[in-house]
Amino acid sequence: MTGSGKTEVYLHALADLLSARPDAQALVLVPEINLTPQFEAAFRTRFAALPEGAIVTMHSGLAEGERARNWLAAHTGRARLVLGTRLAILASLPKLSLIVVDEEHDPAYKQQEGLRYSARDLAVYRAKELGIPVALGSATPSLESWWQAEQGRYTKLTLTRRAVATAVLPSVRLIDLEEERQRGRASVEGLSGPLIAAMKTRLERGEQSLVFLNRRGYAPILSCDACGWVAGCPRCSAYVVLHKPERALRCHHCGWESRIPKSCPDCGNVDIAPMGRGTQRVEETLATAVPGARVLRIDADSTRRKGSAQALFSDVHAGEVDILVGTQMIAKGHDFQRVTLVGVLNADTALFSHDFRASERLFAQLMQVSGRAGRAGLPGEVMIQTRYARHALFHALARHDYVGFANSTLAERRDAHLPPFVYQAMLRAEGRTLEAALDFLGAASAEFAGLAGAERVTVYDAVPLTIVKVFNVHRAQLLLECASRAVLQNALRAWQPALRSLKVKGVIRWNVEVDPLDI
Ligand SMILES: [Zn+2]
Ligand SMILES: [Zn+2]
Repeated sequence: MTGSGKTEVYLHALADLLSARPDAQALVLVPEINLTPQFEAAFRTRFAALPEGAIVTMHSGLAEGERARNWLAAHTGRARLVLGTRLAILASLPKLSLIVVDEEHDPAYKQQEGLRYSARDLAVYRAKELGIPVALGSATPSLESWWQAEQGRYTKLTLTRRAVATAVLPSVRLIDLEEERQRGRASVEGLSGPLIAAMKTRLERGEQSLVFLNRRGYAPILSCDACGWVAGCPRCSAYVVLHKPERALRCHHCGWESRIPKSCPDCGNVDIAPMGRGTQRVEETLATAVPGARVLRIDADSTRRKGSAQALFSDVHAGEVDILVGTQMIAKGHDFQRVTLVGVLNADTALFSHDFRASERLFAQLMQVSGRAGRAGLPGEVMIQTRYARHALFHALARHDYVGFANSTLAERRDAHLPPFVYQAMLRAEGRTLEAALDFLGAASAEFAGLAGAERVTVYDAVPLTIVKVFNVHRAQLLLECASRAVLQNALRAWQPALRSLKVKGVIRWNVEVDPLDI
């Protein structure tokens, strides 16, 4: 359950370990840098008796010197408690005795570039090698972990109540945008009447509202009504995002940036208009839709400077903000005491994704963001704006029914032969042309067919990625699937020499990812 106080459970387990064994080390992983200060403060308070330097952090936000010092402290055993993001799982910890992975479902535990690894899976592996316990914590476990627990391979410990005795789960209300429109009810720039009214009530009561929209920038599309021109990135097969405060068009895939044109570059029409909305536009709308409210936006753009995210979150905690607008950055793990209303905008796109994990991620995200409401005893309310108010996912969410959602989704996965019932690996190739990338994958597939055990592996056709070109590089992928992890691993190992010696003109890079998260 969200807000059930699992951090307190970790603290007890850590306290038991650290007091019982004077040399034992523990590792606590969190999915995001922004969550480390909250944990670090809790650790420093609870374990104030530990000697100076016994608690260290490890994440990419540290300066190199500090990171090296902390790494050494872990390596020499002086650090008893290491708190970090995914890279901390690679730390040298000679007396490692307990690992905690908080929010284990979070995709951020997967390193997607360079050395690809899942910090959560490595934590389980390391714990098994060392014969020590590992605790995976989540209000919305990944279906992979949930399935392990259902089968009895992991021990399931359930926290069934919210920690604060008076804190009840927020009520979830679906706002049917189609019905709102048909009944002619006014909405302002995508914010429905009921949501605006609810925010005004919170403002009067001195409570906080949180508006969640997983899209940064002002508008995802800038287009010309007259000729159909749409602002695109010259280096990617993607539209560029309008950023109004920065007065720029930005590509979220390669970083390309340009000024906002004053007129359509194709036909000269001066009436080019933004379509759709991101967090910046919602921030702008709220300033007039809820007069008098102090609105704060937290997303990757507003927190670019080092330390600025922390300052912004402090403002929220200090009550200097009435309405917080943001992306997934605000959905995760934060303990907002005065938030009693959560509004969710534009969740529908994930309902119809080609990625089979999209609904699992959406459910987790919405359950997490809903969990920000009503934590401190004030009744919480969640409003989800949708065109699909009858969708089963929303109804499971309204019942706070993770178990129901997980079990029905697992049944679907089993029927469709998808993970966790099969194991997958992905070969991706990048080339100067799409043909080069596809040629490479075709040749690789032919090589694979000749390997021992290949007949037990399903090899799909090579296909372009959804966004096929990024930074002038064309990308394609080849999916492999097998009911046995051992068979798949052996085949992948045998495939490597062939892949290395494949010569295809124009291929720049390739990689194999096991258990790919983005299909
Ligand atoms: Zn035009
Ligand atoms: Zn681009």
